[in-house]
Amino acid sequence: MGYVRGLKCRECNREYPVDPIYVCEFCFGPLEVVYDYKEIKKALKRRIIERREENLWRYKEMLPIDGEPLVGLKSGFTPLVKADNLAAALGVKELYVKDDTVVHPTLSFKDRVVAVALTKAKEFGFDTVACASTGNLAHSVSAQGAKAGFKRFVFVPASLEQSKIIASLVYEPNLVAVEGNYDEVNRLCSEIANKYRWAFVNINIRPFYAEGSKTLGFEIIEQLGWEAPDNVVVPCASGSLLTKVWKAFKEFREIGLIKSLETKVFAAQATGCSPITYAIKHGSDIIKPVRPNTLAKSLAIGNPADGYYASDIVNKTGGYGEDVSDEEIIDGIRLLARTEGIFAETAGGVTVASARKLIQNGKIGRNEKTVICITGNGLKTQEALAGHMVEVHNIKPNMAAFEEIYKKIDTGQ
Ligand SMILES: *Cc1c(COP(=O)(O)O)cnc(C)c1O
Ligand SMILES: [Zn+2]
Repeated sequence: MGYVRGLKCRECNREYPVDPIYVCEFCFGPLEVVYDYKEIKKALKRRIIERREENLWRYKEMLPIDGEPLVGLKSGFTPLVKADNLAAALGVKELYVKDDTVVHPTLSFKDRVVAVALTKAKEFGFDTVACASTGNLAHSVSAQGAKAGFKRFVFVPASLEQSKIIASLVYEPNLVAVEGNYDEVNRLCSEIANKYRWAFVNINIRPFYAEGSKTLGFEIIEQLGWEAPDNVVVPCASGSLLTKVWKAFKEFREIGLIKSLETKVFAAQATGCSPITYAIKHGSDIIKPVRPNTLAKSLAIGNPADGYYASDIVNKTGGYGEDVSDEEIIDGIRLLARTEGIFAETAGGVTVASARKLIQNGKIGRNEKTVICITGNGLKTQEALAGHMVEVHNIKPNMAAFEEIYKKIDTGQ
């Protein structure tokens, strides 16, 4: 048996049993998983975790499952790369990239949440899994759902990049392309979830799904040698990942795996869809929904479910929010690639470019230890870079042709 005590409303603290439910019947607040930290503290030690396999289930006591994990047995424990070249370019001393461009099996951090959601869906006895997605979630539900033997329904905005559609279709889910933006897709899916007995990973089993994001936070701390960073920069769509990275840090302190926690949490968004960073910058408690217009489609949620909680954490920890234009996003992707050899999708460009601004405007100190979360792989959104690359040298297959162009190449050495 696991260490879950039940579900609890984040607004009114009313408690609920472990069921596929997600809102409080009384106040409509979101439900969250509650654990027995006293018991976990007795059972879970650094050396126990360190002996386990390098996947996200090494923290299974802190995840909301009762039995053994069934999905994502190779997901997680991605590299924490010491990014000295990028640090030099940005003018900071110590910078790390948490590299979720390489999560097994679909190359984004969504494999973490889906691993937990599908394991829980099996425990609940569902035979069909579904999601409303901006792209990456559809990939992961399609792929991991195939491996776990579920029927799969994935709903995406019809305007998604062609390559992102194909990266779902290859696993042969039932893919529904909805003529509308993500927020409209999500609204439709909420209605469908009320009618059909499916596990909508980010709707009716969202409290369990969202817990999977904590593993990114747990790994950062373990990989820094059981220490929390001074700053962490997190890209926001619904805001869930940011809230869970912070929850992970707090839980590790709660069960005594770290002594102190003074991390400042920073939110990164695209200016074309920045309801969370807008609220942070304007000192507002209210997240004003927007109509997204940005290259960073994986972050294009105009009405973010966890936006309020994300901005609250940023404010309370002394962090800040930044947002960046489409042009800055492309620059961010290119900068990360040419300094660290890591190809991130548009969300990664958002994070790098936002981190650069936060450093420039002094919100992130130059002598502090900073981790930036790079959450998806650039091979998924190659269209975004069309027309922004260095030139290709086209030649005939002979030496003279090569030497002709070689004379013109500035190798920078
Ligand atoms: C989904 C996603 C995020 C953040 O999602 P939240 O809804 O804020 O948890 C970040 N990066 C990528 C690449 C994503 O697909
Ligand atoms: Zn409530």
